[in-house]
Amino acid sequence: MKDSYGRNIDYLRISLTDKCNLRCRYCMPKCGVKSVAHADILRFEEIERVVRIMAGLGVKKVRLTGGEPLVRKNITSLISSLASVRGIEELSMTTNGCLLGDMVKELYAAGLKSVNVSLDTLDPAAFTRLTGVDALHSVLEGIDAALACGMKVKLNCVPVKDVNDKELTRIARYGAERNIPVRFIELMPLGPGAEFTGIATDDIIGGLSEELGELKPEAPEYPGAPAVYYRIGPTGSVVGFISPMSHKFCACCSRIRLTAAGYLKLCLQYPDGVDLKGPLRDGVDDEGIKRIIRSAVYKKPKAHSFGSTGNNDNRDMYEIGG
Ligand code: SAM
Ligand code: SF4
Repeated sequence: MKDSYGRNIDYLRISLTDKCNLRCRYCMPKCGVKSVAHADILRFEEIERVVRIMAGLGVKKVRLTGGEPLVRKNITSLISSLASVRGIEELSMTTNGCLLGDMVKELYAAGLKSVNVSLDTLDPAAFTRLTGVDALHSVLEGIDAALACGMKVKLNCVPVKDVNDKELTRIARYGAERNIPVRFIELMPLGPGAEFTGIATDDIIGGLSEELGELKPEAPEYPGAPAVYYRIGPTGSVVGFISPMSHKFCACCSRIRLTAAGYLKLCLQYPDGVDLKGPLRDGVDDEGIKRIIRSAVYKKPKAHSFGSTGNNDNRDMYEIGG
């Protein structure tokens, strides 16, 4: 599937729910969240149908996210069905990890072999201040349980001034001790994220190399991959950087996003996209859904301009999935 700029779109991120068991201050508004009514959330069979149709259009990678995907009931049954969709080569999940310890064996058995766990701090008090919940121990148990059952694990950390900026070396070391990559992601000005100050990748690299030694660039995972990886000299471990603000990767963007309410969103910043729930529920056949997806994807915006204009959509990150 190509957009009008010739980009090949083969990566679908699906938000399974806008609900979350944490309240990260840069992600969820303080004044409470708008919650999508249960009837308006895509059902599993609708998600599976979209994934099957998208696979027919060339989508190869699917990531489940949220809100918190693990709070969605019976998620293992969805994973089993998505894992068996022909053409989907990678099925993965982004999670805050709180429920991972209890669920990881059944998730793995159902076909989930890869998770990205968000880990912004290793300090229990800072975790509680950031998320509103005293649950760092559950996240750390979840990470170790995922590793123990053979799952591929990556850690995601969003560096934020006066929240976790003094801890980045410690987090990089934590990943190195477990031989798992930590990816530092620049904060984007979506919703409450706009009220915080993120740290630019070059500054993070500067700080890490002062404390850990030289960072040597690695070959990209695949051409145009958003994460740029470096090997830390003496430890031999790997850290990654996803830099939507300071080193835009829109020219190689291969992603589209499906919200929990069934809206196909084409770019994090803009509302452009198309509602799929209506057509799915109105009896439109697979060919019709394909046409709707294809013509929407063709209109994918060229690039975000978060740096100059802020967010143009009224959806926050917990509604989109990151
Ligand atoms: N609840 C899951 C989690 O936290 O991993 C999945 C959804 S969460 C929205 C996905 C990722 O988005 C998390 O790693 C979170 O740190 C990140 N995120 C949230 N708001 C962000 C923002 N304004 N800029 C950059 N990343 C953000
Ligand atoms: Fe929930 Fe993830 Fe947002 Fe934190 S970042 S509030 S865990 S959706």
